[in-house]
Amino acid sequence: MYNIAVIPGDGIGQEVVEATITVLDKLPIDFNYTYAQAGDKCNEEQGVPLPEETIKIAKDADAVLFGAAGETAADVIVRLRRELNTFVNLRPVKSMQPEKYGNIDFMIVRENTEDLYIGDEEETPEGAIARKKITKAASEKISEYAFKYAKDTGRNKVTAVHKANVLKLSDGLFKKTFYEVAEKYPDIETNDFYVDATAMYLITNPLDFEVIVTTNLYGDILSDEGAGLVGGLGMIPSANIGDENGLFEPVHGSAPDIAGQGIADPVATILSACMMLDYLGESSYARKIEEIIIEVIQEGTNVTPDLGGTASTQEMAEYIASK
Ligand code: ATP
Repeated sequence: MYNIAVIPGDGIGQEVVEATITVLDKLPIDFNYTYAQAGDKCNEEQGVPLPEETIKIAKDADAVLFGAAGETAADVIVRLRRELNTFVNLRPVKSMQPEKYGNIDFMIVRENTEDLYIGDEEETPEGAIARKKITKAASEKISEYAFKYAKDTGRNKVTAVHKANVLKLSDGLFKKTFYEVAEKYPDIETNDFYVDATAMYLITNPLDFEVIVTTNLYGDILSDEGAGLVGGLGMIPSANIGDENGLFEPVHGSAPDIAGQGIADPVATILSACMMLDYLGESSYARKIEEIIIEVIQEGTNVTPDLGGTASTQEMAEYIASK
């Protein structure tokens, strides 16, 4: 039996998490779900966006399934990642519709604990200043993770993404550390690009990428770009992994523009649950669900509007579960 902390959060987070549980419930695995609150609604009701009780439930669980947080995202998901010490954010950009988007398949390995996301901002007489933190230890740990991930999954190339020409000390340290770690993996090809160039290459040469390792902010932006390459934010899952905790969430946010309409694509969250199954050592079920999702998208009838269908979030999930 696995104890899963479930934090649906705000907006479509509620809808896509419910849909995902519908699929998980079909597996011959015993899940014990503990629901916990976080996000804008929680802030309105309890006066805090991330209650201590939620942090405790998340820490004690075998894994956490998270939906989305709205305006309070920085105080909820960014803090949760830090509290759980999940130093890596894995964001696979994989085309589930090769006939439409080609065989795009690369992994973004995003550093998850520092960079501008430490939220160290202050007002100054002229405006404001935000501090960007890059440490040798975190750069080493994330580079190690990226190379090990490449090796374990049979990928041949790791690309570091940074802006070391402008941010010479911070991104410079990240780049230097990446190449130091690379020496331990002589069989894996390495290269590095500036983040602005990467934004273009992802569109012009997406098949050249296998594993991208990068700092927190660039990873966040490039993964939304990656989503755009393979059908939108409804398709991209993510895993936050640390030495003791795993938190799984779609890359998309609470999408207030479509919340409450039952039209959100549940695929990103169901695929996040597949990453959770991998983390729990239940990979055979993860692969099976992925196969079924590809099949369902190819059939094209029981899918949400972003995939060309008319099914609701829950209808699509029920169809996937029925298979
Ligand atoms: P955040 O800053 O919290 O990551 P975001 O800026 O990425 O959020 P989202 O809330 O993810 O913004 O929404 C961006 C756009 O993508 C919106 O137009 C939204 O409707 C669309 N979108 C996001 N998730 C889905 C989904 N699961 N299904 C369909 N459309 C989605």
